[in-house]
Amino acid sequence: MLGWSIPLFRIRGIQLSLHASFLLLLAYWADQGWQDEGWHGMRWSVALLLCFFACVVLHELGHCLTARRFGINTRRILLLPIGGMADMEEIPRQPSREIVMTLAGPAVNFVIAGALWLVVRHFKDDVPLYSPAGLLSELFLWNLVMGCFNLIPVFPMDGGRILRALLATRLPYVRATFWAASVGKVLAVAGIAVALWNQVWMVAVLFTFIFAVGEMEYRLVKRREMEAEHWQNWWGRQAAPTAETYPPG
Ligand SMILES: [Zn+2]
Repeated sequence: MLGWSIPLFRIRGIQLSLHASFLLLLAYWADQGWQDEGWHGMRWSVALLLCFFACVVLHELGHCLTARRFGINTRRILLLPIGGMADMEEIPRQPSREIVMTLAGPAVNFVIAGALWLVVRHFKDDVPLYSPAGLLSELFLWNLVMGCFNLIPVFPMDGGRILRALLATRLPYVRATFWAASVGKVLAVAGIAVALWNQVWMVAVLFTFIFAVGEMEYRLVKRREMEAEHWQNWWGRQAAPTAETYPPG
């Protein structure tokens, strides 16, 4: 399903791709604007969505360019209707590095929100929504929400990764991932229930997706650890490639 992507362009050597389903979101969003305010509303809605996804790309670049400082490359950033996904070569096993790399994403949103706040705070309370001022106000709010939402400790969202890194300072990596994924799954189920109760379907879909990806990533970490152990038994402890150096897949 992730194969349905349209390559856009490269940013600092990282391929930016758009998942085909993103176009559905764009169409839905354009239609909402059209129904509210005709052509003007449609243009405004599309502009807001594109600006917001530019912020999503900057968030992902925050992760990727910090990772590059630790020698980890990113193959591509994929834009999905529910947000961005960075396809990195690996996740660092050093908790301090994972924390710095993870915090860099939401930090980008808070910096953007801070910059927008300098402009937005001069606006009157009753700026019309479908105006440039309305667009900047929305963008300010969306960046704040995105920064905070990502810090909820639901693995593999940013907050969940930070929780895993903190646990990994005391537990073996796989156990730390297991507990972070378990906490994440409980919170994701709670998130789905709250979203369904309030009929916010998009958020329910988002938490369902996060639940599934969390489980997938935990299994991947476990599999790599088992493969590394297999090689250790095979070669003897000294010559064994560690989980760090063992190539994925
Ligand atoms: Zn992030």
